[in-house]
Amino acid sequence: MSWDFEIDPDFQRELDWIDTFVTERIEPLDLLLGDTADKSDPATVAVVRPLMDQVKARGLWACHLGPELGGPGYGQVKLGLMNEILGRSRWAPTIFGSQAPDSGNAEILARFGTPEQKKEWLEPLLDGEISTSFAMTEPQGGADPTLFRTTARREGGHWLIDGEKWFITNARHAALFIVMTVTNREADPYQGMSMLLVPAGTTGLEIVRDVHTCEGDQLGSHSYVRFTDCRVPAANLLGAEGAAFAIAQTRLGGGRIHHAMRTIAQLRQAFDMMCERVVSRSARGGSLSSLQMTQERIADSWIEIEQFRLLVLRTAWLIDKHQDYRKVRKDISAVKAAMPKVLHDVVMRAMHLHGSLGLSEEMPLTRMLLHSESMALADGPTEVHKVTVARDLLRGYQPYEGLWPSAHLPSARERARARFADLIGRAVVAES
Ligand SMILES: Cc1cc2nc3c(=O)[nH]c(=O)nc-3n(C[C@H](O)[C@H](O)[C@H](O)COP(=O)(O)OP(=O)(O)OC[C@H]3O[C@@H](n4cnc5c(N)ncnc54)[C@H](O)[C@@H]3O)c2cc1C
Repeated sequence: MSWDFEIDPDFQRELDWIDTFVTERIEPLDLLLGDTADKSDPATVAVVRPLMDQVKARGLWACHLGPELGGPGYGQVKLGLMNEILGRSRWAPTIFGSQAPDSGNAEILARFGTPEQKKEWLEPLLDGEISTSFAMTEPQGGADPTLFRTTARREGGHWLIDGEKWFITNARHAALFIVMTVTNREADPYQGMSMLLVPAGTTGLEIVRDVHTCEGDQLGSHSYVRFTDCRVPAANLLGAEGAAFAIAQTRLGGGRIHHAMRTIAQLRQAFDMMCERVVSRSARGGSLSSLQMTQERIADSWIEIEQFRLLVLRTAWLIDKHQDYRKVRKDISAVKAAMPKVLHDVVMRAMHLHGSLGLSEEMPLTRMLLHSESMALADGPTEVHKVTVARDLLRGYQPYEGLWPSAHLPSARERARARFADLIGRAVVAES
């Protein structure tokens, strides 16, 4: 049995390289460059491409994919350690080829795509040449897939898509949309939906408007998208007909844990800001750091970050072990449910300790606070994930028989007495 929290020295060298590269070459760009999804922007081409080439030459490109899917195959634990660094920068995940939603889209294209689909879409995606969108959520409901209404019907050698999708990240710059559509109304909703590949510019695909969260325009946009008699060849079906729900789960499983890994980076940033602030400021003749309520905030934050990090790394380890997201569904949902709360709580403390400055646009803390709410919604609301955790855990329990629970002390004592009566009785006789 091995149980080891040490990082392999060879991989630590890679992490050190990533840390320096992100600090010196990428983080300054976060303050200068625009939308990470815009692959045609001249500044991106000039500045970002050479950095991507360096990452590729180092063998650190698209590390979320195993070798069978075209990546180096470090596994989720190592990816977690990498993402703990990459997550502190807006541009780093793009420069390392692991930016959502492209990372999840690459994963499903690699797993379910035909050789032709891979050639046309996966190759340029893995080369960092295009951005893609994943279109699942609809205006009337996102958390409940049984409410989806966007349909695709077969007409000769084509699919005709009609319907609307909402909050579609990167739609403005995407070269390809992977669209979840109802293809069989009669079937159970979980078996009646199919994924279709819709290239940008296809007639009938319209971006109604871009929508921004209040985290700032820099973080890109999420669009309201409409399909009207949007025609794509039958060959644009991704995976089997009716398999969209299963494909979406494959994609979302990875996406959720990767968000959590990057959240650790943001937690550490907020924690560092908080500590730097309290050792720098004073109140009533003493350092802020000497006040017990401040110390409590520091201690609580550190404990919560470390607890969350252990849950994330353990879940990553389970994914590596089982190689099947379905077997780790409860654990991924637990991570997903824990993530917004820990980010909210730590950032809120950091903000409070920065006083008015913390609330201002001159610090990144309000953006980080709103991001915690993004994390509570994107890839499914917290409630849904808590239900997944609880249902899975409760499957391991049976109702007790009779009137009293199994831990009821008088009943347990009675059972113990019945079991050991003979032995205790003989011991008492022998002594007397
Ligand atoms: C930053 C960001 C990026 C996103 N990018 C994409 C994207 O690229 N593609 C895409 O398809 N979607 C995307 N989404 C949409 C996301 O998947 C949905 O927001 C999410 O599934 C919730 O759907 P909804 O917004 O329609 O909220 P609703 O489904 O209306 O839910 C609203 C609230 O209702 C409650 N609720 C809902 N269901 C339950 C339940 N079963 N039990 C208890 N309470 C419940 C919860 O409080 C929930 O927060 C993105 C969202 C965000 C925030």
